[in-house]
This record gives sequence, structure tokens and C-alpha cells, in this order.
Amino acid sequence: MTITPTRESELLASVPTGLLINGQWRDASDGGTFDVLDPATGQKLATLASATSEDAMAALDAADAVQKTWALTAPRERAEILRRAFDLVTARAEDFALLMSLEMGKPLPEARGEVTYGAEFLRWFSEETVRDYGRYLTTPEGKNKMIVQTKPVGPCLLITPWNFPLAMATRKVAPAIAAGCTMVLKPAKLTPLTSQLFAATMMEAGLPAGVLNVVSSQSASKISGPLMQDDRLRKVSFTGSTAVGKMLMKDAADKVLRTSMELGGNAPFLVFEDADLDAAVEGAMAAKMRNMGEACTAANRFLVHESVAKEFTTKFAAAMGELKTGRGTEPDSTVGPIIDAGARDDIHALVTQAIEAGATVVTGGAPIEGPGYFYAPTVLSNVANDAEILRQEIFGPVAPVTTFRDEAHAIELANASEYGLASYIYTTDHNRLFRVAEQIEFGLVGFNAGVISNAAAPFGGVKQSGLGREGGAEGLAEYTTTQYIGIADP
Ligand code: NAD
Repeated sequence: MTITPTRESELLASVPTGLLINGQWRDASDGGTFDVLDPATGQKLATLASATSEDAMAALDAADAVQKTWALTAPRERAEILRRAFDLVTARAEDFALLMSLEMGKPLPEARGEVTYGAEFLRWFSEETVRDYGRYLTTPEGKNKMIVQTKPVGPCLLITPWNFPLAMATRKVAPAIAAGCTMVLKPAKLTPLTSQLFAATMMEAGLPAGVLNVVSSQSASKISGPLMQDDRLRKVSFTGSTAVGKMLMKDAADKVLRTSMELGGNAPFLVFEDADLDAAVEGAMAAKMRNMGEACTAANRFLVHESVAKEFTTKFAAAMGELKTGRGTEPDSTVGPIIDAGARDDIHALVTQAIEAGATVVTGGAPIEGPGYFYAPTVLSNVANDAEILRQEIFGPVAPVTTFRDEAHAIELANASEYGLASYIYTTDHNRLFRVAEQIEFGLVGFNAGVISNAAAPFGGVKQSGLGREGGAEGLAEYTTTQYIGIADP
């Protein structure tokens, strides 16, 4: 389908521009606004109300006011709201996909994939809502009985990043609803439009006023600061950079807030000498280039056995060279723009440093001139094992390739990171898979698979990649607290 300017402007005009507080869309208390830009052109897409601290408190007032009644709604009722939301988001898949492509830059086919993935959290948690089991048992001494039950944590602050505007919101909102929590959602200021449309969809699905409040804002700390000092807030769930996550964890200490932290990653992509190299290249393309490399799960360190490194690199670079950069709405575009000029400069600085330290550019290696913030898909070989590009999250379409001698060396290099989110292993030896998985310190392992995110799976990291899990049964547990009742011998 060709996307016309009229289709874009009609869709943008349908997105609410206010703050959602207690079921009403309203202006910011000081009338402030901020603009949302198209990263492919730098042009303005929309102007939204910019929440103040006062608005954030109004949102928490609304969430707190309905928390008790919301917690007591029948699980089936909450399940049906989520299921209706799944149906509505799915019916509007093209709108959500186009909106994400416009504000974030990802190619439309990828944006459609995110709608499928993001909507699945609504369906998965609608099914989990009625399966929040407790326990009833006899104490080990045999006399008394124990009941263990779960309760919703209470009002939550949900903070999302710009890179997956729909999925990062549904991955938090759906389990919070399933558990019976109320929420204040603060989307990233670079890509808030999807959350605005999603919130409108949730209201249409029958979510009662006050359960989900949305405070898009130019200033994140004006929202999180006062809310995290308020005794009524019980949890903060954050997805974003490790640096901001650490600050929020310090703030959370004051009120001993529950936290879920989905932070940065620096995924190793291990290719062993017995791997199917064509499958490894296909997986590498998916693990590196999904979202233009702007993903916490993006493969950032290609660690290849020295005997197959040359062949792998040649095939990988050929596939990267065939990609077509362009605005996400263009039919043949496979790589969209980087989110903004600063992010593109950061990527190029890492590439430049690596080249200065001896890396070879196999393909790409430079920004693309013109409007928008495009960067050429890049493969670097001969990257030194201590190069900065292997230490930091690249967050762009750049693949540094380095080599290892044997399995022990591969594991040592893979673990040489402060992060521990995603990892990928390509080998045809299943015994090796289990040996390596046992020893690498990562929350997620893709076995001959470049994309493994799934609503039914517990997603999350170890080390400085964060705390807690999203998705799966573990994702619901993040929003519940445990109560134990001891019953005397009758
Ligand atoms: P970011 O940390 O800059 O921002 C994330 C969110 O935090 C945004 O909503 C932002 O407005 C808000 N924020 C920024 N400063 C804040 C402050 N001082 N107080 C409160 N909130 C603040 O991250 P980003 O650039 O939006 O996203 C990219 C990062 O997110 C990468 O590091 C990526 O790895 C990570 N990420 C992690 C996961 C995961 O599941 N582990 C998923 C996606 C992205």
C-alpha cells in the first residue's frame, strides 16, 4: 500500500494530543507543549501537551483513587478488557504501524511486526489474568495451615523508551491490568504518539477512568521526581538506559519502591566453527538490523571462530550491502533513520575510534548525507578485543566482527561486559549449546535464532542490564505482592 501525505495527516490528526488523567484528555496545567519530529526528515509531526509535576500528581491522584475498587474487579472482567484491547489494536494494526514508522523511523514491515508482538502482550496477559494462583498447605509441623495469596502492588509509574513505542507500553500495561494495578504511564518524549493512540484504544476497550493515566512530557524528571517521593506510588517499572535506571533506583530507595529495570544490553553473537554459516548470516542480519540496531537485544559483538571468520564476514557484509536506507514509509526501504542527530553522531564516533584503533571497514562506515539522520549499514572486521565499540551499546546499524580461538575463549569474550541481556549462539552441536548457555551470563539466549522476543517468555537481563522480567508468568509476578496467612490448628 502506498502511504500518501493525506493518509499520514489524517492519522496524525486522529491521535489525542492531551494528557490522559482520570479518563479525560486535558491540556498541561501551565499550557506547555512539545513537538514530535519525523527522524527521516526532521519535520514536525505533532504537538502534544507537556505534563508538569502538578499534572503528574493529578495523574497519581486519579490512579490512587480507583486502586482499591480496581483491585477488587473480577479477574474475568480485567481479562476481557485486555482481550478487547488486543482485538482493537489488531484491527488498527496499520494505524499503529504507520504511526510508529513516522515517529520512530522503522520500516513499515518492521512496525507491523512490532504491532503483532506488542498486541500479543494484551492477549497473553488477558489469558494469565485468571491464572494468578496462590497456595494452601499444611505447615511442615503438621498442625497449622498456610494460605499464600497475591495482591496487586498498587499504583505504578511506567516509564518507556523511544525504540519500541507500542511493545514497551503493552509489556508493562497489560500485566499491570492483569494484576489489578493502576498506572501512570510516561512515554519517551521522542515517540509518545503511539502511547497516546494506545491509551485511547484502552479506554475504548472499557478500561475504567483513572486506571491508566498518560503524562507525556518534555521533562521526564518533573514526572518521576515528585511521584517517586509520594507514599501512594508503590512501584516503578522502567525500560531505558542503564544510566537513567541507576538514578531511578537511587530515587526508589527513599520509599523502598518495588522496581523493575529493563536496561541496556551489549549482546554477543557467537558463531562456532560447526555453525551453518548461511543461517548464521541470516540470524546476524535479524539480530543486528531489527530496528536499525536500536534495540537492547541488538547483537553488538560478533564473536566468530577464527577458522570461519573470513567467510562469515564476507557473506554478512554482502547481505548488509544490499539493504536500502530510506524513510520507513517507502515501500522498498529496509533501514530507516537513526532517532536523532546526537544518536547518529555517537554511532559515528564509535566507528571512527574503532577505525583509528586498526579496524577495517568491510562495508559502510559513514553517515548518509541529506535530510534525516541516516547511517550506512556497516561491518567492521579486525576489531581489537578491547575497542570501545565492543564495550558500549552501539544502538545503530554497525556490526563489529572479532575472532575467538576456542569455546573457552568465546565464553570469556562473551562475558567480558557489564551487561547481560541478550546473547546468540550459532552451532550445530546441541551439547555445546548447553555447555555455553550454562556458562554465559545473559538473561536471554538465542540458539540458532536471531530474534527470540515473545510475550510468553520471561524477558530481562542480569548484571547491569537490569532487574526483573517482562512477559511470561514472571511478567505478572512483577506487579503482584505476596501475602501469607497463617491459620491456627482448628
Ligand atoms: P533513556 O534512559 O534515555 O530514556 C528512557 C525513558 O526514561 C524515557 O521515557 C525518558 O524520557 C525517561 N527518562 C530519561 N531521563 C530520565 C530521568 N532523569 N528521570 C526519569 N525518567 C527519565 O533511554 P532511551 O534512549 O529512551 O532508550 C534506549 C535505551 O533503552 C537503551 O539503553 C536500550 O538498551 C534500553 N532498552 C532496554 C530494553 C530492555 O528491555 N532491557 C528495551 C528497550 C530499550
